[in-house]
Amino acid sequence: MLVHVALSLLAACGGDTPRAPDGPPVSVLLVTLDTTRPDHLSAYGYARPTSPALDALARRGVRFDDAWSHAPETGPSLATVLTSRLAPDTRVRGNAEKLAPSLPTMATVAKGAGRATAAFVSTTLLRRAACAFDRGFDVYDDEMTDPCFGHPAAQRIAVRTIDRAEAWVAEQRAAGRPYFAWVHLYDPHGPYDPPEPAPVLDATRHLVPERRVARNQIPPYQHLSPFREPFSDAADFADRYDREIAYADRHLGRLLAAIDPATTLVVVHADHGESLGEDEYWFRHGNLLHDAALRVPWILAGPGLPRGLAVSGDVRMVDLAPTALALAGLPPLPDAAGNDLSAAARGDAAPPRSELVAEARRREIVGDAYAIDVRWKIRVRSPGFDATVWPASGEHRGCDAGAARGLLERLAPWRVTPPGEAASDESGAALRSLGYR
Ligand SMILES: [Zn+2]
Repeated sequence: MLVHVALSLLAACGGDTPRAPDGPPVSVLLVTLDTTRPDHLSAYGYARPTSPALDALARRGVRFDDAWSHAPETGPSLATVLTSRLAPDTRVRGNAEKLAPSLPTMATVAKGAGRATAAFVSTTLLRRAACAFDRGFDVYDDEMTDPCFGHPAAQRIAVRTIDRAEAWVAEQRAAGRPYFAWVHLYDPHGPYDPPEPAPVLDATRHLVPERRVARNQIPPYQHLSPFREPFSDAADFADRYDREIAYADRHLGRLLAAIDPATTLVVVHADHGESLGEDEYWFRHGNLLHDAALRVPWILAGPGLPRGLAVSGDVRMVDLAPTALALAGLPPLPDAAGNDLSAAARGDAAPPRSELVAEARRREIVGDAYAIDVRWKIRVRSPGFDATVWPASGEHRGCDAGAARGLLERLAPWRVTPPGEAASDESGAALRSLGYR
């Protein structure tokens, strides 16, 4: 089994004291954009206007400029987001593995505090049978209606997911019920095939240079016909990726217009990024640990937060739940691995320096593992756990033995914990048929 593990050993961490906001109970709207790079959002300065709704949200809120995911795959990344636990605890080491049944989540905490709870997800990877993320949600809407990967119903495009979420939010507002809602939008994930009418963007202003990519350089799920054999233009892929983001943002804008901004904390992030040619990886993410696959957007807006604040300094998706719960005045997750960054979000403190660990696996290749931090990569050979260590950038050359031992010690919990329960036979078979395993 090939395991990629990423480590960022930055320093000791500090903690912030949660402060409940004054006033009425705060609702939470958590929005996950699948496969969305911050540098392709105009909210983060991208030259193309891909995200007018998020631009407006960032103007009335806070933008973390250096946010990192713990996995370049949907399941493991979101298991950490929902629980503020890392993979050795969530037991979700890859897609189609079920969340450890005993762990509290943002949803169980919110429900325990009296919030109405609902999730609206948009990929078959997040069906309850595949991931068991539904605990704590009164409503877990995982009905897939749209074709993907050659399967007739493996995703749900944003217009339909947002319709469902918008109706549910309107019900809660009409009843005066504070809520916790999680909305996941899958559109930016490949294949890049934006539903019409998708926004049209200026073709001259995207970041990916003109480059011909061969069919065998991109994953099969990105093969759209007609593929201009034997090569296709990378810029064309990038344009369609941007238009998927713009399409998702357009519909997200409807939902953001339907909430009460005075009483709702909005949290927008991505589960992971996407490689658009970095290190010669094209339009993929699932087994990559470079910046393009791990760097994610994170924007918050709501009561008690400053307007238009940009926060620099590394923060992590494991910090999202402690931060959101504190800002909403909800109880903390017990034994959370992340930091409450509410003081940083309010502009009162810099983010504490903290450790980032990320992991990716490729089950089709047996025997190797990789680890990386901001400074180092490690390739670990299973099961003996001997390691080759080299700087994350530059030539492959070893580090000193002491540093290598320190890095390996940090990886030990990741290496001894078995994977979690696999998805049910039916769900697992469906996912395998889609090329996931
Ligand atoms: Zn994903």
